[in-house]
Amino acid sequence: MTSLFDLIASSSHAVVFTGAGISTLSGIRDFRGKNGIYNDLDADKIFSLDYFLTDPSFYYKHAAHFIYNLDDKQPNIVHNQIFRLEKAGLFKRVITQNIDLLHQKTGSRNVLELHGSPQTHTCLDCGMKYAFADIVPIAGKGKVPKCEKCGGVVKPDIVFFGEQLDQATIDAALFEAGRADLIVVLGSSLVVQPAASVPLETLRRGGKLAIVNDGPTPLDDRAAFRLSDLKSTFVALRDQMP
Ligand code: ZN
Repeated sequence: MTSLFDLIASSSHAVVFTGAGISTLSGIRDFRGKNGIYNDLDADKIFSLDYFLTDPSFYYKHAAHFIYNLDDKQPNIVHNQIFRLEKAGLFKRVITQNIDLLHQKTGSRNVLELHGSPQTHTCLDCGMKYAFADIVPIAGKGKVPKCEKCGGVVKPDIVFFGEQLDQATIDAALFEAGRADLIVVLGSSLVVQPAASVPLETLRRGGKLAIVNDGPTPLDDRAAFRLSDLKSTFVALRDQMP
């Protein structure tokens, strides 16, 4: 089998699609994995819009330990090599399901965040925007941040269950995937929509699919390249990069 680096280097327009599996190497728990957050926390509550509107303290109490402590978390070899590939012009776009801001920490620009981002927060009453850094001192202690202007509850711009994904972001991701001759899926099991439809768009237009993920995905049969261990794959890729 050809190496991942050779596959990327021989493509003319490669894009990368990342999921929570790439951040577990940074000590961030994924959601649905075997040690995932959803094993101890009710997924239907933590990121549920209905529940948040009823009781925002549940989200803030629990997110203190995995969203508002992100300043302590550092990008790992996967994020760093993605940035090198981007700088070398080999990855044209980073599309992510992650909300941990680690791609941005490496220097990656124009990251398409399908599930939104805690980088900004919005007051549910007046729409006032707050930066992550403004929210951390309160949310980091598990408290509910309130709007300085109107006292309303402030919600992260993460797409919660019960909310629509941002259509412009989805359209941009499908456009990027559609013109790619290679899409590299890393650390995603491709079960949450629109995750699966993004690589499908590449396949539909005749592009190739590479997957590195520790569990099965619904598109495994259609992948031209398939490995499971991210760390060893990226150690090899790092050593092969000029
Ligand atoms: Zn407000």
